[in-house]
Amino acid sequence: MTENGEILKVNDLHAGFFTRRGVVKAVNGINFTLMRGECLCLVGESGCGKTVTALSVLRLIESPPGRITGGQVLYKGLDLVNCPIGRLRQIRGKEIGMVFQDAQSAFNPVFTVGNQITEQIGLQLKLGRHDAYQKALTMLTEMGIPAGERVMESYPHQLSGGMKQRAMIAMGLSCDPPVLIADEPTTAIDVTIKAQILQLLTELKQTRQMSMLFITHDLGVVSEIGDRAVIVYGGRNVETGTVADIIDDPKHPYTVGLLSCLPDLTGSSGRLKSIPGTTPDPINLPHGCTFHPRCPHAMPICKKEVPQPRQLSADRIVSCHLYGENDAG
Ligand code: SF4
Repeated sequence: MTENGEILKVNDLHAGFFTRRGVVKAVNGINFTLMRGECLCLVGESGCGKTVTALSVLRLIESPPGRITGGQVLYKGLDLVNCPIGRLRQIRGKEIGMVFQDAQSAFNPVFTVGNQITEQIGLQLKLGRHDAYQKALTMLTEMGIPAGERVMESYPHQLSGGMKQRAMIAMGLSCDPPVLIADEPTTAIDVTIKAQILQLLTELKQTRQMSMLFITHDLGVVSEIGDRAVIVYGGRNVETGTVADIIDDPKHPYTVGLLSCLPDLTGSSGRLKSIPGTTPDPINLPHGCTFHPRCPHAMPICKKEVPQPRQLSADRIVSCHLYGENDAG
């Protein structure tokens, strides 16, 4: 960690998939800094580049066809994009834990859940089998899993979706990593368990000073767990700020659109809203601002020039032509 509390810094990250149809440009210049003890949310619709960003941090995108094509991922000053694979393996799990979006495919189907969690703990924390098993069991209990022994002896397909997801979170946290990357960790879980897990992650963040990179499409979850948020569209960050500022006073038209899609709990507004149009084809990204085909404020310049990030206040950065050089927000 650097002296100013930065633990993970992503600079101008680019990643793509080289397919027969063309290059799928999934990540096109993402920037963010994760501070010690904070929860930073990466927010956007499906297909906007959040998951590829998360996987790229630990060089976990499938290669080929995927490749990181530019930028840096600095973990305590070490560039994970270019460091030796041996060093990266020491960091995975032990220093940066990962909770994958799809627990079904993240677990190996031919080994029991307990075997997989125990092996990771034994390897990374250099614990004997008995101690690693006990630690795995403790993690499952912390995740609110009753009858942990039974879950430890089960194969992934024998568990329900919610149970598997909780076991996946337990595995991500099992080596007490100072940083956790959680990719839509509560999507497959019912609302009561979801609330428990968000509460638990918040407690861990506070008691262990754990830093979290939390990937989600759900601004409701962001408001519950996040300290700051990075709104992502077309593989770029379009707005960064504190969660309170972003929710109270969104600046970027995409953020405004995402917020307008939140359900109205009074039930007065009738049907759920959505942002018109669809996320851009990452093989043929629109010129200029990638949001222009869907933006109600699009101007001629938006089709030609990529908007550069503008610092509107100490912690607010927006990339949009509506905010000129001297605009203070
Ligand atoms: Fe809309 Fe233009 Fe801003 Fe893009 S740059 S969000 S098209 S106003």
